[in-house]
Amino acid sequence: MTAYKKVNTICPYCGTGCVIECTVDTEHNRIIEAKGSPDGVNNEGRLCLKGLYGWDYLNDPQILTRRIQQPMIRKGGKTSPLQEVSWDEAIRYTADRLNAIIKEFGPDSIMGAGSARGPGNEAGYITQKFMRACVGTNNVDHCARICHGASVTGLLGVIGEGAMSLSVPEIEDAEVIFNIGYNAAVSHPLVARRIVRAKKKGCKIICVDPRKTETARIADIFLAIKGGTNMLLLNAMANVIISEGLTDTDFIRQHTKDFQVYADEIAAYTPESVAAETHLQPADIRKAARLFASSKHTVTLWGMGITQFSQGVECVAACANLSLLTGNFGHYATGVGPVRGQNNVQGTCDMGLLPNTYPGYQEVTDARVRNKFEKAWHVSLSPNPGLPLTQVPEKVLREPDPKKRIHAYYIVGEDPAQSDPNLPEIRETLSKIDFVVVQDIFRNKTCEYADVVLPATAWGEHEGVYTSCDRRFQRVHKLLEPQRGCKKDWEIQCLVAAAMGYPMHYDNTEQIWNEMIALAPKFAGATYEKMEMNKGIQWPCYSTDPADKGTPYLHKGGTFATADGKGHFQFFPYTPVQEKEDPQYPLSFCTVREVGHYSVRTMTGNCRLLRTLADEPGYIAMNPADCESLHLKRGELVRVISRRGSTITRCLPTERVSSGATYMTYQWWIGACNELTNDKLDPKSHTPEYKYCACRVEKI
Ligand code: SF4
Repeated sequence: MTAYKKVNTICPYCGTGCVIECTVDTEHNRIIEAKGSPDGVNNEGRLCLKGLYGWDYLNDPQILTRRIQQPMIRKGGKTSPLQEVSWDEAIRYTADRLNAIIKEFGPDSIMGAGSARGPGNEAGYITQKFMRACVGTNNVDHCARICHGASVTGLLGVIGEGAMSLSVPEIEDAEVIFNIGYNAAVSHPLVARRIVRAKKKGCKIICVDPRKTETARIADIFLAIKGGTNMLLLNAMANVIISEGLTDTDFIRQHTKDFQVYADEIAAYTPESVAAETHLQPADIRKAARLFASSKHTVTLWGMGITQFSQGVECVAACANLSLLTGNFGHYATGVGPVRGQNNVQGTCDMGLLPNTYPGYQEVTDARVRNKFEKAWHVSLSPNPGLPLTQVPEKVLREPDPKKRIHAYYIVGEDPAQSDPNLPEIRETLSKIDFVVVQDIFRNKTCEYADVVLPATAWGEHEGVYTSCDRRFQRVHKLLEPQRGCKKDWEIQCLVAAAMGYPMHYDNTEQIWNEMIALAPKFAGATYEKMEMNKGIQWPCYSTDPADKGTPYLHKGGTFATADGKGHFQFFPYTPVQEKEDPQYPLSFCTVREVGHYSVRTMTGNCRLLRTLADEPGYIAMNPADCESLHLKRGELVRVISRRGSTITRCLPTERVSSGATYMTYQWWIGACNELTNDKLDPKSHTPEYKYCACRVEKI
């Protein structure tokens, strides 16, 4: 008789952190069914399409043949083919090449990128420990750099904590939701459900977006803003709140500083002064500001429509300023929500996969903190912050001093040859790096530039912890035995470290987790046992005492995580986008997502059911009037061209898009919109301006 087991685990497809109940046929090593688990605090027994159907790449015999199941090396140099080798040979080769590069150019010539997708927090911890303790550099980063890096930096400056201040379930008890640059229906369907439920309970919704998104359709106020002008609107809303006396004066006096300096600067940003550039009516801006200030349960939610701009950090700070002005912090169902995209991107930040912080957001420049990690890891650590991954092209293509160049890139579970902006330059960068290691589950585009490819286990084949967008640590359980030849990400990097002369050994993920929480006070009480007993633990959780069940919302009572406990108003003037439309490139270009797919489709692109929903490489969404003037019909093939490159896709006329604007999904390697995107960075977070560049569209 076939043996079945039921296992609860966490969905790998977005930061909502939905709990999935999987039925597994243990005899045939197959998942039979997935359904929402009632144990899921954020999903209450429900799943979206990706959670329900996004696992058949683990079962399908045809798809499984595409998995990387043996390490591969280019034995004859960059132009030779990848050849399968034994694990021993691959580990030895990788360790020798990395050691040789360290000897010749120093540890800062090596860059490491971790994964915010399947591997989990323990693997993330090991990646940063490998780079810091074994290689000897803080050059370690991950995909938060290209999505919500601006949220972390922006919030740290104002309120001292870079994460979502409330919990997902609190959203439905908000009285006002200020939704800016965020399309929950596509990015986080189970968060979208909370927004709809809030609306049904009487919540008023303000939606700010250049496109008519699903949230815009149910909004009480829809501000169809011109892309790239968020700061003008945010400052104008602050202007209305202050000038009309709608501030919470007690809260400002007791819990904030620098209000007057901020108010003096904001005085110039009247709704009338920003109307032309934002394409908004002053009366609508006033209505939105008044509604925002009308409640002590106003929740601000944003996505990459705020952060993926060259002024992303400052716009995040401007969002937090609005909540400070109106006393919307420190109690239930209020605050700020940068809703994280990848399932574990909050966790990879938590684990210190960042060039400037150890696990638990402890600065690498703090000698006391560094000393603690040196003692625990028995090694001397670099006091210098490392390189953000978006600066790798600069450090490869334009760094004149060979000693200061990046010579090796160790990439775990990411595909920069598809996901990073300005792909023509990324390809040139990857082809010029002396030594590239890729650790992944399928042969992705970056493997074309890899000297070594190492096969890792996939979601479902290992265990660990993910952190959801609302800081909830949840246990991820193993469902299946791993594919032949694959090893866990953390095991692989421990083997490479040992071969390089820095032994790292763990028997299981709990050992890794316990080492991490012993070093990160903010997470110290979040044991595996407590996570299991409490349906997850939201950090901060300082004590292992069972009574400490973590922190559902931050800044209780208006005490912020800054050094003085106050919220710090920060004024920033508006800075225009880096590249504007002109006669040669007359349209604006923006990237968006496809609801049935995730990231660059490494996993969902190999799921038959999800592919049947969207199997055609994306489209370019354009206003019908623009299509007509270019004589373009629905479905017609077009070439889209920017200053950096071009791509071919199909034309989709839609009234959801304003005239002069265009949108493409970023998830396809045919019709890849990152051929076009601008790699200009936010100077504070080094996040690229994916959401705005200039393009033209030509009939083919
Ligand atoms: Fe998975 Fe996100 Fe969908 Fe939940 S909302 S099932 S976490 S993709």
